[in-house]
Amino acid sequence: MEEQISDNVIDGKGIAQEIEEKVKQEVKELKENYGVTPGLATILVGEHPPSQLYIKLKHWACKRTGIKSDNYKFPAETKEEEIIELLNELNSKDDVHGILVQFPLPEHINEKEIMQCIDPEKDVDGFNPVNFGNLFIGNESAGFVPCTPKGIIYALERYKVDIEGKNAVVVGHSNIVGKPAAMMLLNRNATVNVCHVYTNGLKDYTSNADILIVATGVKGLIGEEMVKQNAVVFDVGITWIDGKVYGDVKFEEVLPKVSLVSPVPGGVGPITIAVLLEHTIKATKNLD
Ligand code: NAD
Repeated sequence: MEEQISDNVIDGKGIAQEIEEKVKQEVKELKENYGVTPGLATILVGEHPPSQLYIKLKHWACKRTGIKSDNYKFPAETKEEEIIELLNELNSKDDVHGILVQFPLPEHINEKEIMQCIDPEKDVDGFNPVNFGNLFIGNESAGFVPCTPKGIIYALERYKVDIEGKNAVVVGHSNIVGKPAAMMLLNRNATVNVCHVYTNGLKDYTSNADILIVATGVKGLIGEEMVKQNAVVFDVGITWIDGKVYGDVKFEEVLPKVSLVSPVPGGVGPITIAVLLEHTIKATKNLD
């Protein structure tokens, strides 16, 4: 029986499937016309269970679409130099078109240093400062932007939500989600506030947001009283408790008040993975 999705719940799985279909077709064409198989290399350091799962999901998605993928797994105590050595190797390999390092890394590894070492042309997660720079100057298509905020923009487009002139609030200011999401909204002429753990009076911001993106990892941070009537809400947060996943938004409570809300799971997560596949195709076309 088909799953019933109510009108104001963002169908992340559906959007992801649409992107995957296009990716599948492009993989086929690249193989048939150029004899090239898109290749993604991922690096996982340590035993962080959610990261292990995300890597698995990414490789399954590659398999579904015909992208060749290899995971390089390291124990938590691995030295930073070892990861950098591998990155240099992968940067120069012709059959590796995209490289992804699964964050967070163990504390002794400097994530900012690692971000610098991924060839910008293979940086399918959009973490290299060159790609960040292009995002900041409003030249997103020149390189790669982080997959999660790009997925959110896709969903906004898919549901025909105007961004220009809207009040947008991003809760969370990480390099992976919050900052790039804010910049992508700004590039599309929203008026953007970025909130974080040191923000005073979070509700004053969130309750005025036409578009609200929440990426904190704090289970149930946003309740009904914190959202504006008819707002569009994206819940990026993922918290695992006893094998069950929770978002940052109190979904059931917020649902009747808003015009759109993304569920957890089945919202932003699947779209993020689909964007990663799309980026791998783009990287393949750039390099070959
Ligand atoms: P992070 O830990 O790097 O950043 C968390 C942010 O939340 C920080 O800016 C912090 O200041 C803010 N914050 C924390 N507590 C807060 C509070 N009480 N009030 C307001 N702000 C608060 O996290 P991240 O890498 O940006 O990820 C955020 C969440 O999104 C995590 O749960 C992560 O697992 C999830 N995530 C999901 C996807 C996906 O594809 N669905 C992708 C990336 C991250």
